Formats: sequence, C-alpha cells, structure tokens
Amino acid sequence: VTTRELLLSRIRDVADYPIPGVTFKDITPLLADPEAFTALTGALAELCVRHGATKIVGLEARGFILAAPVAVTAKLGFVPVRKAGKLPGATLSQAYELEYGTAEIEVHAEDLLPGDRVMVIDDVLATGGTAEASLELIRRAGADVAGVAVLMELGFLGGRARLEPALAGAPLEAL
Ligand code: 5GP
Repeated sequence: VTTRELLLSRIRDVADYPIPGVTFKDITPLLADPEAFTALTGALAELCVRHGATKIVGLEARGFILAAPVAVTAKLGFVPVRKAGKLPGATLSQAYELEYGTAEIEVHAEDLLPGDRVMVIDDVLATGGTAEASLELIRRAGADVAGVAVLMELGFLGGRARLEPALAGAPLEAL
C-alpha cells in the first residue's frame, strides 16, 4: 500500500459531528497506529525540508499533535498558535470569520522573527479560515511563509481558493 492509502485507511468518518449534517474526519485511529503516525510525521517533515522551512507552526489543537514530532524529525523549532487567551506572554492576535461569528488566534510575538521561514502544520484544511489567519500572524511578525502542510484538504469547502492570496505563491501541500 502507498502512504496515501495507509493514511486514508486510518481516518474515520463520524456522521453528524459536531452538528447534524456534518461528517467529521476523525484522525485518532491514525494517531493510534504507529506505522501510520510515523509515516504521516515523516512525510510532513520531508515537505518542511523540501520547502526550506526554518520553523514549524502548529495550529491548536490537533495541529500540535502533528507539528511537534514533525519539528523534532526535521530538527526545527516548534511554535504554537493558540486560541485567544491561552498564551502567557506578549502576543500578536488575529481575528477571523467563522460561518457563525468570529474566532481569534494568537502567537507569542517573540517566537516568530524576521528571517524565519515558517511552515504551518494542521490536520485538516476545511474552509481555510484558521490557516489564513495563521499566515497573517506570520507576516505581521515579519517572518516569511514557507507554506502550509496538512494531512487532509476537504476540497468541497474551497479552502485552497480562500488561502491563495495569503499564500502569495507559497505551497499548500495536502497529503
Ligand atoms: P477551517 O478554519 O479550515 O474551516 O477549519 C480547520 C480547523 O478545524 C482545523 O484546525 C481542523 O483541525 C478543524 N477541523 C475542521 N473540520 C475538521 C474535520 O472534519 N476533522 C478534523 N480532524 N478537524 C477538522
């Protein structure tokens, strides 16, 4: 089996979660399988190296689970982008639109610096709002965007198109 087939076989569809009509892609079977988890983090680390990343940003919360082993494998630093109000130090924050209402994410200002080339890691790209806001944070900190790498892109939600302006030519990689 290919890596893609292995990863797909370990993602579980959960109907009507978190709300009726939505099918949630559950990655916990993949995380529980050492062969699949190792293949995933290895493939993501390879993308970080290929695109010249010098730093890894993980998006709370499932992005943390992937980004930390990727950072260690690629021998790069890990920077958490968290939901508002969780980081103790001086932060940059970025609000973004959800289907209903808004959300806000933050990063420690001192963790992203001019000269950094940052790869954003998350499990799923859905509407692209979270990843788009993270790219704004990276640019506002004066750092460069190496790209966005996710396990899975839900193509029917149009996240790639939404992300395109913020990517400004940097790659969006979906395994
Ligand atoms: P977006 O901002 O692209 O609409 O949503 C992406 C964020 O929501 C990611 O952080 C991702 O973890 C989470 N997310 C949205 N839909 C799913 C899903 O079906 N499965 C998983 N695992 N995460 C999802």
